Amino acid sequence: MNNHKLNLDFAQAALEEYRETLDQFSELLIAENKKYNLTRIDSPQQIRVRHFLDSLAGLSILDELSKKTGKPLKILDIGSGAGFPGLVLAVVRPQWKIISLEATKKKADFQQKICDTLGLKNATILNGRAEETAHHAQFRQQFDAVTARALAAMPVLAELSLGFVKTGGFGLYWKGPSVKEELKTAQAAIKQMGAKIEKSAPYTLQAEDAEPANLSLVICRKTNATPKQYPRIFGIIKKKPL
Ligand code: SAH
Repeated sequence: MNNHKLNLDFAQAALEEYRETLDQFSELLIAENKKYNLTRIDSPQQIRVRHFLDSLAGLSILDELSKKTGKPLKILDIGSGAGFPGLVLAVVRPQWKIISLEATKKKADFQQKICDTLGLKNATILNGRAEETAHHAQFRQQFDAVTARALAAMPVLAELSLGFVKTGGFGLYWKGPSVKEELKTAQAAIKQMGAKIEKSAPYTLQAEDAEPANLSLVICRKTNATPKQYPRIFGIIKKKPL
């Protein structure tokens, strides 16, 4: 497994290029957060680093995949909350198609508001649960990549997400400091779902008004079809992780 540190210069450049649109996103998030409690991170500086820049941590990897396939990517972001990382990817790569799946209606509604206000035509918001949606033919093994940040621990995450990915595609998972232990416990689940761990890339986020955050992006590559029975219903996934 390759463990090179991620270079975020590329992500930073994309952030600059789309600054105006992302400032609008940030203003809406701050305004709606007062009503709905969408995020703990609520200063413009921190939103920029901990939400926007972080959402773009996987951008260079996705760009590489897009180069390889020779086509705009089709990506599913699972458990996207207020739109991270999915809607930020949609802003900076208007040619890609992003589907953002979120179980909580008020969060999905907020994301729809973001799409309408920012004029994001390449993003579709779905209010639903991954373990159900993954069994629908129009979503099963249809995506070049899935993304998920702060959704679940790795074994659960693998089962919830990898059934959506085409063979040769990627699962990208935004992880915190416990990544090594999580990966150890997730080997079997990832294999069972038809994938393997390709790399775990550490990176550091530094907002002006906060301690540095040491994070990692885990990349799994889908090598085989996912057996039909996965994902199982959520109660079973949680109780008996693969
Ligand atoms: N990715 C966002 C939100 C993380 S919180 C961010 O990083 O800021 C996790 C989100 O996943 C919550 O909004 C929750 O409603 C959603 N969620 C949890 N389980 C889910 C499932 N099985 N399918 C779809 N969404 C789910």
